[in-house]
Amino acid sequence: MKLLVTGGAGYIGSIVAQQLLAGGHEVVVLDSLERGHRAAVPDGARLLEIDLRDAEAVVDAVAEGFDGALHFAAYALVAESVARPEIYYRNNVLGSLNLLDGLRAAGVQRLVFSSTCAVYGEPEVVPMDETTPTRPVNSYGASKLAVDGMIADECRAHGLGAVSLRYFNVAGASGCLGEDHYPETHLIPNVLRAAQGLQDAVKIFGTDYPTPDGTAVRDYIHIEDLARAHVLALEGARPSEHRIFNLGSGDGYSVREVIEAVRTVTGLDVPVQEAGRRPGDPPRLVAANGRIRAELGWAPTKSLTEMVADAWAFAQERPHGYAGAGTH
Ligand code: UDP
Repeated sequence: MKLLVTGGAGYIGSIVAQQLLAGGHEVVVLDSLERGHRAAVPDGARLLEIDLRDAEAVVDAVAEGFDGALHFAAYALVAESVARPEIYYRNNVLGSLNLLDGLRAAGVQRLVFSSTCAVYGEPEVVPMDETTPTRPVNSYGASKLAVDGMIADECRAHGLGAVSLRYFNVAGASGCLGEDHYPETHLIPNVLRAAQGLQDAVKIFGTDYPTPDGTAVRDYIHIEDLARAHVLALEGARPSEHRIFNLGSGDGYSVREVIEAVRTVTGLDVPVQEAGRRPGDPPRLVAANGRIRAELGWAPTKSLTEMVADAWAFAQERPHGYAGAGTH
């Protein structure tokens, strides 16, 4: 298939693009490079440097015709989304509407969308399945939920076949492609930075959660397992249907358990500093992944240790990310 990958210069989009190329597909990456990295676009993919907020450019780009699209391009920092909601609605929601306009005009019939468990907010019942009420607690989650709603309506009205994958905590790396955000807010890269001495200590945000060791529990999923689900989702898109799947390993690990895994994998000391809770962080988020296992035949294959080991290999290869410290 000839596939459009928006955000294909970012962490998840680049690794999905790499898997699609390995599967024999033709890949065109659409990315503004505002937060993505040219060096992350896999060899063999064509890059269109376009911002999704530029409606005309997007419609023109999609007009060349595609068999399907995978849509990753978005802002994805929770704290920033609370401080500056307007940029999240403009980029994530309006950008997605521009993409849908382009796909409709060009007759593209398949879409896979990068959604998030942040649409569920602070759930009362964990593990969380797809019937969990959607009550986002930050503008990042709200913007992704708005796009899920737009996609559902697009499918009903115009026959698009779409799949939204609601990711839990994506981690690890894939060969020479990995995670390089600025600022870096995610746990595993920050623990690795502390192990490497690139930052003084890793902060543990909250030690008084109602969890066995008092630190927050998350469901970590290896980026390669996550990427594989996109290929299945693309094949599983059905005309006029919007299918939604939670995408996590189904296992929960606390912040302290992740730090311990880093100590074991790297053999290094990890200085830690206990700090207060980060606003909006729920105690425990774990996926019930029965639907994607049953309907798409997906299953996770990689452990937390493998996620940490692969992230560690990437961090050693590129201690300052793709382009050097503080730049992108
Ligand atoms: N966390 C932490 N220190 C850090 C970064 C994250 O203690 O430097 C905690 C955070 O509070 C959450 C978990 O680690 O409970 C995972 O956070 P991350 O930002 O990686 O993903 P999120 O769950 O927010 O999407």
